[in-house]
Amino acid sequence: MQISGIQKFTLLDYPNKTACVIFTPGCNFRCGFCHNPEFVLPEKIQKIKDSFIPEEIFFNFLERRGKLLDAVVISGGEPSLMPDIIEFVTKIKGMGFLVKLDSNGSRPGVIRDMIQAKLVDYIAMDIKTSLEKYTSLVGTSGNPEKIEESIKIIMDSGLPYEFRSTIVKEDHPREVLEQMARLISGAEKYYLQRFRPGTVLNPKYNDFSSYSSEEMEDIAKNIFSPVIKEVSVRE
Ligand code: SF4
Repeated sequence: MQISGIQKFTLLDYPNKTACVIFTPGCNFRCGFCHNPEFVLPEKIQKIKDSFIPEEIFFNFLERRGKLLDAVVISGGEPSLMPDIIEFVTKIKGMGFLVKLDSNGSRPGVIRDMIQAKLVDYIAMDIKTSLEKYTSLVGTSGNPEKIEESIKIIMDSGLPYEFRSTIVKEDHPREVLEQMARLISGAEKYYLQRFRPGTVLNPKYNDFSSYSSEEMEDIAKNIFSPVIKEVSVRE
């Protein structure tokens, strides 16, 4: 397993649990608003390769600091691309930790395998846009059928889960937001995150804008809340 970074302690990434977060390098999407281009673009990954954390060091850390942690969050990049993710997570579960998977939903087979093997306790999946707009927003790996399949697997899993979206005004006009709401209609939990310019994968996004706090609350209340149980805005 390649580990490009670690956050040793967080109270924010796994609901009501203490956790560490590990980041895996590489992603098959190219979201222009991505805030982690160093974990996505091969030329940037190459530059940080020497600072990758060997698996052994990570497991030593878990053994030493484990008493402080309930859970391990596996984030990216896109962790489901890692060929040995099942073996890696099996080891973490064997040590008694809860596991949360953050995924872009592009590999429903991996998500299904992890659920069936009881290797994951919480899943967070990004909903980037409407199915129609997926490939134009994230690139050709954003296969709408696979996205739809992942959504269904997660919603039928019986596990706690959340969907979440970064909302960019130029990418997410009202009709697209309405299609996204239909796509995840009946879901338990959905978080809308305001886009913030800054470090982004595609520099043109620094000229893009976000909805105001009031507009985000209005979107949450009038577009998503009618079809989703719990909807929140993350600033
Ligand atoms: S899926 Fe996530 S990690 Fe990959 S490019 Fe999009 S925002 Fe970045």
